[in-house]
Amino acid sequence: MQFDDFDDLHPETLAVRAGTLRSEFGEHSDALHLTSSFCVGSAEEASLKFTNQIPGYIYSRFTNPTVTAFEQRLAALEGGEAAIATASGMAAILSLGMAHLKAGDHVVASNGLFGATIQLFNTYFSKFGVEVSYAAPTDPSAWAAAVKPNTRLFFLETPSNPLTEVADIAAIAAIAHAHGALLAVDNCFCTPILQQPLKLGADLVVHSGTKYLDGQGRVLGGAVVGRKELVDPVYLFLRTAGPSLSPFNAWVMLKGLETLPLRMRAHCENALKLAQWLEAQPQIERVYYPGLPSHPQHELAQRQQKGGGGIVSFEVKGGKDAAWKLVDAVTLMSRTANLGDTRTTITHPATTTHGRVSPEARAAAGIRDGLIRISVGLEHPDDLIADLQRGLS
Ligand SMILES: *Cc1c(COP(=O)(O)O)cnc(C)c1O
Repeated sequence: MQFDDFDDLHPETLAVRAGTLRSEFGEHSDALHLTSSFCVGSAEEASLKFTNQIPGYIYSRFTNPTVTAFEQRLAALEGGEAAIATASGMAAILSLGMAHLKAGDHVVASNGLFGATIQLFNTYFSKFGVEVSYAAPTDPSAWAAAVKPNTRLFFLETPSNPLTEVADIAAIAAIAHAHGALLAVDNCFCTPILQQPLKLGADLVVHSGTKYLDGQGRVLGGAVVGRKELVDPVYLFLRTAGPSLSPFNAWVMLKGLETLPLRMRAHCENALKLAQWLEAQPQIERVYYPGLPSHPQHELAQRQQKGGGGIVSFEVKGGKDAAWKLVDAVTLMSRTANLGDTRTTITHPATTTHGRVSPEARAAAGIRDGLIRISVGLEHPDDLIADLQRGLS
């Protein structure tokens, strides 16, 4: 059995070719190895494999060929040396923390992170003596100011959710490294097709494969990507603790990656059209989309990203009532908080994803009552515009 290995090819090629698995049967598409364990030929072979003296598959909590194929394809797309797949995006962030942090360490993270990530940091990391401070993603000097002698990790999400604030990855990486800390970037919104944080100086990338990597709303999955010396400790945690990726989910995401470049391009085109249309509507107060020249970090986004992404947020005039009216009026878009799907989804963050946050904290985070977030899918943009038009008139 062997994996095709390619370097220096275009992302479109890597997406369909890198990590391709070939067994003795010569299957053209990637096989799904739905097995929990693997047999060995002799007691000696078992002993050599268990003690890592020879490579090979033992048990799918450790490694599985279909999972390896997904890891190799994703690593190639991110320009990373190694990747380890996890059961979900949160399992990736947990495993990264368990592998690289210990009691007494300090983390600087961007404010406005994904809700479960904040919960993980504040409720669980703190239980084990890891302290987290938050800094504005758009202000690198705030990251420098937040550093303490025991700062070990910077954790950044860009663009942020739901306000699409764009952080300067290279500037924040330089600050992390000047203080001996690692920078991890959650690259869920952009995917490696639009942004490669490792090439901008980040040490690790984390993914929720549940979003664009699968891209069709079918499975949960995640990954940590980076230099082998940084990914290996994550693997050792995963192998012991077990938040490993199911081979079936790995296979779904492996096939999802093949269309990722095409899908991301289409998501960006549709999102830009929707954002431009929204900006011209009198009922709309403000649009948040990095692809619009009115976005505060538009120039940085142009430099750092190959597109504005698929997430568009905007404020409707009239606060919560107007926002709910619009959410209730759409007939095509799905009312669900998931994102990164072929199908467009619409959410009212103040009463859903940020519903348990206090009104003061919500105001401080800029989540106003009229705010709506749309994850723009692959339907025709004119149909999406017509759907919103109904809700606004
Ligand atoms: C969804 C999401 C996660 C968590 O991923 P799961 O696969 O749901 O565990 C982490 N970060 C971001 C930015 C997300 O959107």
